[in-house]
Amino acid sequence: MKEIRDDAVVLRTYKSGESDRVVVLWTRNYGKVRVLAKGIRKTTSRLGGNLETLAHVNVDLVKTRGEFYIARHVAHRERLTTLRKSYARINAGYAVVEVMDAIPSDDVADEDIFELLTRVLLTLDDETYDPMLVPSSFYFKLLALDGSGPVVDVCVNCGRDVPLVAFDAEVGGTLCADCRSGTSISPNALQLIRRIMSGDLAAVLREESPAGAGEVMAIALDSIESHFGKQLRAARSTPPLSPPSPAR
Ligand SMILES: [Zn+2]
Repeated sequence: MKEIRDDAVVLRTYKSGESDRVVVLWTRNYGKVRVLAKGIRKTTSRLGGNLETLAHVNVDLVKTRGEFYIARHVAHRERLTTLRKSYARINAGYAVVEVMDAIPSDDVADEDIFELLTRVLLTLDDETYDPMLVPSSFYFKLLALDGSGPVVDVCVNCGRDVPLVAFDAEVGGTLCADCRSGTSISPNALQLIRRIMSGDLAAVLREESPAGAGEVMAIALDSIESHFGKQLRAARSTPPLSPPSPAR
């Protein structure tokens, strides 16, 4: 009987039978696991409140027959009270865990990805950070961890260090006027992506609606959807707070 004691984040839950739920967790050391939470939908359930989407928990799990684990004990690691008070923060969190759930990784651990995920939750729980660009930043950093980060310093096609005027998620980065495909990118949006990817993220997230944010959100979403080859519902339903800059 396989037992797991680990940190985990709840990616999503779904109904199973009359009163059970399946809880999809991303654990630090075992990657994605599915927990069958028996009786969790009864009002008396002890586990219910601790296994909500976005919860950062410590779990004791036991492997059952089949693909599921059973939860023996669940405790909160972080309460995330600021995150849970704001729809904008919760929606940003959903747009992040939806992408985590799209990663095809059962029983494959990647501690860097887990660290990135928990950092994102703490960022969303910090009221000094604006949540708007958090999912976009997460997508870029996740792609970078996977060795698929977009090229944004030169033309991804010809490699020249010339003015960059377009971004094409299929090609994987920015393009010059000669090679252009995909969508236009403004200097502001380009600058913003470079800041996000180069370690200036904390400063970016302290700015309210920085110039180019709408474009960056669209580009990040195109990039992550192109990577996984699927449309993301939660991410798409989070409207940009500022209109995208006009194409030029
Ligand atoms: Zn080029």
